[in-house]
Amino acid sequence: MRPLRICLVASELAPFAKTGGLADVLLGLGRWLGRKPKGSAAAAAAPPAGAPSAGAGHDVRVFVPFYKRIADSALKADSALKTVPLPGAQNIDVRFPQRSIRFSIRVAPLPQSDVLVHFVDCPELYGRPEIYTNEGDEALRFAMLSRAVLETCQRLQWSPDLVHCNDWHTGLLPLYLRTVYAWDRLFANTKTLLSIHNIGYQGFFPESQLDTIGLGDQRAHVHHGDLRNGTFSFLKTGVLHATRLSTVSITYAKEIQTSEYGMGMEELLRTRSQDLLGIVNGVDYGEWNPSSDPLIPHHFDANNLAGKSRMKAALLSRMQLPHDPRAPVFGVVSRLTAQKGFELFADSIPVFLQREDMRLCVLGSGESEHEKYFQWLRDTWPKKVGIYRGFQEELAHWIEAGSDVFLMPSRFEPCGLNQMYSLRYGTPPVVRRTGGLADTVEPWNPTTQTGTGFLFDEYSSQALAGTLDWVFRNWRDQRGWQQLIKNGMQRDFSWERQGPEYVALYRSILGA
Ligand code: ADP
Repeated sequence: MRPLRICLVASELAPFAKTGGLADVLLGLGRWLGRKPKGSAAAAAAPPAGAPSAGAGHDVRVFVPFYKRIADSALKADSALKTVPLPGAQNIDVRFPQRSIRFSIRVAPLPQSDVLVHFVDCPELYGRPEIYTNEGDEALRFAMLSRAVLETCQRLQWSPDLVHCNDWHTGLLPLYLRTVYAWDRLFANTKTLLSIHNIGYQGFFPESQLDTIGLGDQRAHVHHGDLRNGTFSFLKTGVLHATRLSTVSITYAKEIQTSEYGMGMEELLRTRSQDLLGIVNGVDYGEWNPSSDPLIPHHFDANNLAGKSRMKAALLSRMQLPHDPRAPVFGVVSRLTAQKGFELFADSIPVFLQREDMRLCVLGSGESEHEKYFQWLRDTWPKKVGIYRGFQEELAHWIEAGSDVFLMPSRFEPCGLNQMYSLRYGTPPVVRRTGGLADTVEPWNPTTQTGTGFLFDEYSSQALAGTLDWVFRNWRDQRGWQQLIKNGMQRDFSWERQGPEYVALYRSILGA
């Protein structure tokens, strides 16, 4: 079968611009799709250290804004990121009704891959410290991303088989393709896939902005109920017009069609139920592998866990907490938002901090009520709780590696990557049975010695507390615990397993 021409578009891409899992997924999927398949002449050259070897060999081009943080890091003399202007894609004017906005494309290889990242260089819109803003032109910033992708394809005369859009920021692309660019035969066979990574973010803006972004005469193609309320949503527009839809786990694909999880989009999604597929995210074990992770000082694998004990000691010392191998370390790495379920800690965690010899290491940032709560825990149990407020990639890897248990009591979780990372790092997760957590964590059964973690169903502090009790009881049986760790470390969520599901979906879209 011929390789596909795939255009991957998103607002985040690790390691350049990341606030959450979306960035990791774009990196892992992009790399895998573009890597030469096993046995091909190009793949015969040794793969980069730590990288998996077999890929799919497609023609993949990734598009992401050239945010200020990326531009700044590319400017540093010792930076690994070297971008160059892409000939033929410089000083392109995109016409919006009120004025034109100019952009250029700079390219650089995706690390450890041949895939080219196309950075949309538009300082006026992206030259700001934050990836996301609350400024008045936020709709224009991401409308521009879609327009820039299509304009660039035109300049390069590159006809993608499929544009794979991700989350609300890219939701307008299918409609632009069907309207503003409908005349261009270059796109005559181009299909679109919109992947929903989190339905909690729908990109709502005042209806008046449709004019600003050049869709003023396309109101008939925007969700009518929203227009009646004076708004429109990027994500809903994408759901209406993308050829197909996907989301990031099988369970979440079902959940978002219900009123409990659909966040107001359930009805619309039910109308497209036949076109919506759940594919569990992959893990890039080139980045997240305890036996080779360059961000941690001690390495280990399922057959030799000595390095994990050393990581535990190192983590506790870094968090300024006393070390006792018998006291389990609970880890949290998360955006601190309502989605992640930390409100359940209020009536559960203090009981255990009071009663048990345990440690809690938290890395996160977000809503101030959660940040304050974790600070209160730290102030109240300074020898048991360590926190770091902020975003720190290296510490995230240390917590995955040095903890004994990973906490992820999410209210909803489209897929979740951290629980899959924690499995690979020998840190059994405690999760609520929702979304991708339900699809990737299997309940530990000490009788049969099967399972990989601990699950609870009801969204309540009592349910979490009951599960934590169960965790402590199992922790005391260290022989069983070692088996639990091994079970999790042996699970495989690699892109080699998950990626082919995307390719099958792409091909089915193109064949349809
Ligand atoms: P989400 O995408 O909802 O934030 P995921 O579990 O899918 O949740 O992915 C989160 C990703 O972001 C993981 O790679 C995790 O390590 C990372 N992450 C989250 N918060 C932080 C933080 N404060 N510092 C470093 N990495 C973080």
